[in-house]
Amino acid sequence: MGNSSDVVSYAEQLIACKSVTPARGSVFDTLEAMLAPLGFAVHRFVAGGAPDGPVENLFAIRRGLPGSRHLAFAGHVDVVPEGEGWTSGAFTPERRGALLYGRGAVDMKGAIAAMVSAAAEVPAQAGTLSFIVTGDEEGPAVYGTRALIDLMRERGEIPDLCLVGEPTSVNRLGDMMKIGRRGSVNVFLEVEGSEGHVAYPHLADNPIPRLVAMLAELDALELDQGTEWFQPSNLEITELEVGNPATNVIPARAKARISIRFNDTHTGAELAQKVTEIANKHGGMARPIISGEPFLTPPGAFSEIVSSAVEAETGIAPEASTSGGTSDARFLRALCPVIEFGLPNATMHKRDEAVALEDLETLVRIYRRIALAALA
Ligand SMILES: [Zn+2]
Repeated sequence: MGNSSDVVSYAEQLIACKSVTPARGSVFDTLEAMLAPLGFAVHRFVAGGAPDGPVENLFAIRRGLPGSRHLAFAGHVDVVPEGEGWTSGAFTPERRGALLYGRGAVDMKGAIAAMVSAAAEVPAQAGTLSFIVTGDEEGPAVYGTRALIDLMRERGEIPDLCLVGEPTSVNRLGDMMKIGRRGSVNVFLEVEGSEGHVAYPHLADNPIPRLVAMLAELDALELDQGTEWFQPSNLEITELEVGNPATNVIPARAKARISIRFNDTHTGAELAQKVTEIANKHGGMARPIISGEPFLTPPGAFSEIVSSAVEAETGIAPEASTSGGTSDARFLRALCPVIEFGLPNATMHKRDEAVALEDLETLVRIYRRIALAALA
């Protein structure tokens, strides 16, 4: 059986493995060495090839009695690059005062450590627990969680519920969980014209006015009013490019890029179609790239389990939010209901990323409560 101080040691061991995305090797060796003694069957595999792979992933499962419920803990052990200006080494975990410093302390090796500690404290006969851990969440995420989902489907290991350990808390541990996330689509726009001299416009075809009119129409779109759980979808113009250094030349082409974050009143395909129609109307072309569909686990039994566990340990009920960027929950939703809950995110992706030792220990107790209630 584990005890709460194990979580700090687990977090330190994981942080000490340099695992800038995509993570391979030692950080998975370290995680496997934690899970195997707890009775987990650990399966590791490498998926994909260049340019978005290869990526290492880990699926571990400890089966309860036949027919028992199955909770999956999901997350990643890759981290963003260390950047500059650290007080101590980014991959040399260091306790200073009440904090543990190191890259990944909150996003999300601290949460992985808390999940392992919680699993150690949940009796094996309580039910089936699994870990879905990728080495590519911070990167392209093409061969990470999606490959893990394929593997689980092949093996028929479909969880009933999935908890993702992303750092969702804001000002203090427990103040926010994510019950959904918006989807994301980026569209590359281009208008072809015909090059010529500014003084002889009848011999040229300027693409810029058509691109400007296209962007004005796109920018004026009101996609929706939001829903009970989601803010309104928004479309932002993120890039404009003509690249014309001459003052007397009408350019041959003009390009732009837009990014849409959308709620569950849309699909990526529907928005891609809408933007393409507007681009074509102005004589341009559109190349949409859908990077994620929205997901929503409507408030109900699972959110109640998470909320009760958080409140029992912290005294506050978490806000059920759908804010923020995309996460791997956009893929996991295909398996079962998904909720994200984890550490305060103030220092994630920054120098001197740090987690409060007390938060780590509280998180273990929260995850343990969630597991026991989810498996009951
Ligand atoms: Zn993360």
